[in-house]
Amino acid sequence: MKYWNPYLETMEKHELDRIELFYFRNIFSYAKEHSLLYRDKLKGIDPDGIKTLDDVKKIPLTDKQELREYQEMAPYPYGGILGRDIEEVTAFRQTSGTTGKPVYVPETYESWQWRIEAWCHILYMAGFRPRHRVFLPFGYNVYVAFWEGHYASEKLGCELVPGGALDTRGRIHKIIETRSNGMMNTPTYGLHIAEEATSMGIDPKSLGIERMLCAGEPMPEATRKRLEDLFGCHVFDHIGGTEPCAWAGMCEVKQGLHIIEPFFLVEILDRETLQREVEEGEIGVAVVTPLGRRSFPLIRFNTKDLVRKAKASCPCGRTSHKISEVMGRIDDLRKIRGVLFSPKTVEEIIRKEFQEIEEFEIVVERRGIMDVIMLRAEVAPAVPLAAIDPVRERLKESLKIGTNLSFHVIIEPPGSLPRYQLKAKRFKDLREGEKND
Ligand SMILES: [Zn+2]
Repeated sequence: MKYWNPYLETMEKHELDRIELFYFRNIFSYAKEHSLLYRDKLKGIDPDGIKTLDDVKKIPLTDKQELREYQEMAPYPYGGILGRDIEEVTAFRQTSGTTGKPVYVPETYESWQWRIEAWCHILYMAGFRPRHRVFLPFGYNVYVAFWEGHYASEKLGCELVPGGALDTRGRIHKIIETRSNGMMNTPTYGLHIAEEATSMGIDPKSLGIERMLCAGEPMPEATRKRLEDLFGCHVFDHIGGTEPCAWAGMCEVKQGLHIIEPFFLVEILDRETLQREVEEGEIGVAVVTPLGRRSFPLIRFNTKDLVRKAKASCPCGRTSHKISEVMGRIDDLRKIRGVLFSPKTVEEIIRKEFQEIEEFEIVVERRGIMDVIMLRAEVAPAVPLAAIDPVRERLKESLKIGTNLSFHVIIEPPGSLPRYQLKAKRFKDLREGEKND
């Protein structure tokens, strides 16, 4: 079968809209009644006034800072974001806390099953089937995406091999031992596994991975293709977050991501005003309302993820709305010497044109009144010394063309830059007053 849920995935668009509006009004009323945050925030807004999806735009957005503030209330540790009785909560999860105090996420058994079902759409769309033995190369700790991946692949009928409590070499041995043919990982960690396997004399292709689902960082198309080449497998992207859940995934056509409808109402708003829905082809901020989760109701959550809105039709036959590209976090967009800069562009250039670069880091500093942008790039051990200067020159040129900025390029010895398992931190803005997650 082609679809996890043929009924929902091929539903006429106007029907999807109708259902989403109905669900939105429901969760709106529920949140207003059961969550302290929304009792305050939605005071004076009558759900009967929400008659169309355009009316939704009049309701205020929710941001992470408000969640943090309301968590300070009772009952500990969820406070005013909780939408059910605390005794019904069956799972504790939390955000990574890279941008400040973590947000604690309460899940009841019911809300957890809702999350898993949404995730099943993502896995099935990426071609995961009961024949797959899926290796998950992380210790899950309190981080939600691994648990979702674990339970969703079980629900799908895959066989899940948890790969925590091992180092990367141990994980590679485990993949070989279990003959795993599927994997879920960050793009960065996929590249790291390939690098480590190669250093062990093992061709990553020989691991026999057939499907890989990635998330956790924006994945440029060049990185996706590089992973496909390295492992000789199909690589898929998806996007989500701890608070709003995973809300879009890539189908086998591999052109952009389908929004998981009608689980989520996703708006893509103009990043300056946060009011107007952008047109197809334009970039905007994703604002997500999970439509069926009551343990932690969220209305119009500002994800701060920048995405490009795509044409809605897809050769796979799914009728949901699509995004063509995940651009990265709005917080990572910077003005450098008057030029708008996104770190993702650098990754795209490196993964596409510089196979000899294994790891890199971007550093921005202010020297006097000048902003200086540096690329520290680490070459593979096999690259001969004589090739280093030409690589540096090519890098400078490609980066200048791709970003309109002149980079200082520093070539670092193999193994000297940090390696990441979860979210990579390859962008460091050391200028005063600039945010640095
Ligand atoms: Zn599709």
